[in-house]
Amino acid sequence: MTDPATLADRVQAGELRLYELEAESDPETAAAARRHLLERETDVDLDAIGDYTFDAAETDPNVENLLGGAQLPIGVAGPVPIDGGAATGEFYLPLATTEGALVASLNRGLSAIRAAGGATARVTDSGMTRAPVFRVAGVGEAETVVDWVDNHTDHLRETAESTTGHGELLAVDPYVVGDSVFLRFVYDTKDAMGMNMATIATRAASEVVEAETPAQLVALSGNLCSDKKPAAINAIEGRGRSVTADVVLDRALVEDRLNTTPEAMVEGNTRKNLIGSAKAASLGFNAHAANTVSAVFLATGQDAAQVVEGANAITTMEIRETGLYASLSFASLELGTVGGGTRLPTQAEALDVLGLAGGGDPPGSNADALAEIIAVGALAGELSLVAAFCSRHLSSAHERLGR
Ligand code: NAP
Repeated sequence: MTDPATLADRVQAGELRLYELEAESDPETAAAARRHLLERETDVDLDAIGDYTFDAAETDPNVENLLGGAQLPIGVAGPVPIDGGAATGEFYLPLATTEGALVASLNRGLSAIRAAGGATARVTDSGMTRAPVFRVAGVGEAETVVDWVDNHTDHLRETAESTTGHGELLAVDPYVVGDSVFLRFVYDTKDAMGMNMATIATRAASEVVEAETPAQLVALSGNLCSDKKPAAINAIEGRGRSVTADVVLDRALVEDRLNTTPEAMVEGNTRKNLIGSAKAASLGFNAHAANTVSAVFLATGQDAAQVVEGANAITTMEIRETGLYASLSFASLELGTVGGGTRLPTQAEALDVLGLAGGGDPPGSNADALAEIIAVGALAGELSLVAAFCSRHLSSAHERLGR
């Protein structure tokens, strides 16, 4: 077996490319060779990046040109009781972050929710989308294609579902723009986030569309999906899980735990999260839902770029007879408990803390539960941050905890 330094020599000499190292050695040695190379070329010590705990061979579906591992601190908040459609019981939230004060803030909100007896959460819609774009001669052909698709959904479903043991095609929504036809395929991807699954299934269905109609495929993703980009279609139609959490906090609880009043919270939420977001033409009408989404996503092996869609959330607060009603509704939370980065060791452990690693029984229930837990965590974050603004101690908390 060749040692890392010799392999690095061969890459530097132009005999080998960076991505050919696994063909010459085992994955650990290949990663070590890349570190050698980078250390020589950049004069940077890569001991920390080289100190990782996963098995390099197991990262094959997750990364190319493996160099090592990045580490993030993980904090824990909770426990919080949840009455969910899929998540029922008490949960501790694993949160990977470098933002001081975030875990403490969530913990404060969760403790208020816990004192109130817990939060309610439900997934109200679920569907991962892929929207290929086809070229047609003009609007006449576009109509022919749309008619054919509308009349042959069963044929497309059969073809798409032949590529997966779990995915189900729920709908094909056509959009026409001049001589472009977009078909937005919507799938129930069960416990998988489903982007690979939906893409593979849509490729098969697109071949049928090309064979049976004048449409010619230009791109398997026509950006109307819409993945990893801010897009109103996701905020309106939903993508991944649409999930809502809510809670009623007694007036005394708001005063004691959050150091403010229900009236101040409602005013703060209205002026900041609703009016401020409207004036900014924001897609997210919330204070910092993406903070919880990103921290749980990073801890549990989700695709971090999909935090973009995870920011499409609306926070509401109103006065109830006994105190404060608060809710948070995510339109497009894209996540899974199988596939992607979920099976890497620290990520799988974090999912295990939630009791959600792997496929659920019935399929889809684990991913639903994860969505509900994130929604409750983010609701706690909204309560805590809006309260901090109302009681004017946000900057002091950041000063104390984050610097
Ligand atoms: P995946 O790791 O590609 O596949 C997950 C597979 O797990 C499913 O296809 C399914 O196989 C199987 N599975 C086993 N038990 C399951 C259960 N209970 N529920 C659902 N599926 C189950 O994951 P993915 O979720 O489809 O895609 C996520 C990956 O796609 C991430 O790594 C992400 O970074 C990447 N990604 C891809 C694109 C793209 O355009 N391709 C875009 C963004 C992100 P069967 O289908 O055979 O049943």
